Amino acid sequence: MKLYYNRTKIVATMGPASGKKDVLLAMIKAGVNVCRLNFSHGRPEDHKGVIDIIREINAEYNTNVGILADLQGPKIRIGLVKDGGIHLVNGTQIKITTQECIGNDEQIYITYDTFPQDVQADEIILLDDGKLQLRVISTNRLDTVICEVVHGGILTSRKGVNLPNTKVSIPSLTEEDLINLQFALKYDVEWIGLSFVRTGQDIVELKEIIKQSGKAAKVIAKVEKPEAIDNIDEIIAATDGVMVARGDLGVEMPLEEVPLLQKMIARKCRAASKPVIVATQMLESMITTPRPTRAEVNDVANSVLDGADAVMLSGETSVGEFPVIVIETMAKIVRNVEELGYPFNAAKEAQINPASVTDLSNALCESAVHLAQSTDAVGIVSMTTSGYTAFEISSHRPKASTYIFTSNKQLLNALSLVWGVRSFYYDKLESTDDTINDVNNILKAAELIKTGDVVINTAATPITKQGKTNMLKVSVIE
Ligand code: PGA
Ligand code: MN
Repeated sequence: MKLYYNRTKIVATMGPASGKKDVLLAMIKAGVNVCRLNFSHGRPEDHKGVIDIIREINAEYNTNVGILADLQGPKIRIGLVKDGGIHLVNGTQIKITTQECIGNDEQIYITYDTFPQDVQADEIILLDDGKLQLRVISTNRLDTVICEVVHGGILTSRKGVNLPNTKVSIPSLTEEDLINLQFALKYDVEWIGLSFVRTGQDIVELKEIIKQSGKAAKVIAKVEKPEAIDNIDEIIAATDGVMVARGDLGVEMPLEEVPLLQKMIARKCRAASKPVIVATQMLESMITTPRPTRAEVNDVANSVLDGADAVMLSGETSVGEFPVIVIETMAKIVRNVEELGYPFNAAKEAQINPASVTDLSNALCESAVHLAQSTDAVGIVSMTTSGYTAFEISSHRPKASTYIFTSNKQLLNALSLVWGVRSFYYDKLESTDDTINDVNNILKAAELIKTGDVVINTAATPITKQGKTNMLKVSVIE
């Protein structure tokens, strides 16, 4: 269907602008690899229609578009306010209450029951993406917190609240998240995103629920709190992938720190062979304009160069006026970097422990990438059931295309998020020689490789045992 495949993947958030089949199909043809369902908005049933459309397109067009169900996590909001908005005036006082009410000039409701117990005097409260700022004067430790308006403005209903200094005691998975999680698992989405992750334990708990539900969805930790930055190593160790959620991260941390945090997180994720998504405001101006700003083009290109596995669009594709043009634009920026300036095969920081079986297959994947480079191979072709080999090969950012054959249907779409990986369904387990010839022939028939091309095959022998990758072969296509 497509001639050029981006190595860096594109995640598009679904919404009213992209929920129709013809629009979504055009977006997928233009380069979307993964669709994000944002459970902060809409009821679970509202997402079912989009899930059906994505599955239909995959079946009809033989695509492997994955689904990322993004759970809201312990996101805090204010309640409704009167007259469509209230004016907070600098230097005046306002009460925040945990008793539900319609907000006015005197008090506003917060969706966080233990806020008066958790908060301390002098802590900062940011409203509406940090546009408005309050400072805590006092709390009655029961139901009311008195604040001073530091940066005022108009506050409208249901705006988000960020508490960068407060130790928030809300559980990482709220009751609403648990309901949405079961819904997403029921429809076998490939990735579950969790917002406002604070510790590795948050991810361990989410994975435990997924496992107990008998599902295999993989998990994305959304890094958007200072605590997540403090605990970044344990979070990366626990998760299957990470999102640099710059929207909230840029509110909770000093804005100027976000560019280097993005690079730090991308580097650590690649070292750990975990995919990383760079998210939020990438082509923000395209919500209302068909051409991006030059700074936005730079941001997408630099995120690709930082080592992102995927770049994400939010409002641009969920509510924007140009959902297809924005994907075309993003794909063009990604392609241009990949054709002219991408650091393929760049060395990766990782340690190999020779006593570990997984580390030995990691070493083999690294060798496959080196061998592909020195033989000018056009492809690295692997078989996997767990997906391990795919994540590992991808983390070395090979110039050769990465073709992954698997009988694991959910993995087929899950790998759509992973840098450079193209996956194929394959369930014939023959002898190693036959299997390798067979998968190479499939690629040749698909005109992805041709006679005379060099490809590197990896496999696990004996092939019927589905063990760890332990074999490397150089093939010249006949
Ligand atoms: P959100 O997450 O869009 O769900 O808030 C991304 C971000 O905060 O950047
Ligand atoms: Mn967020």
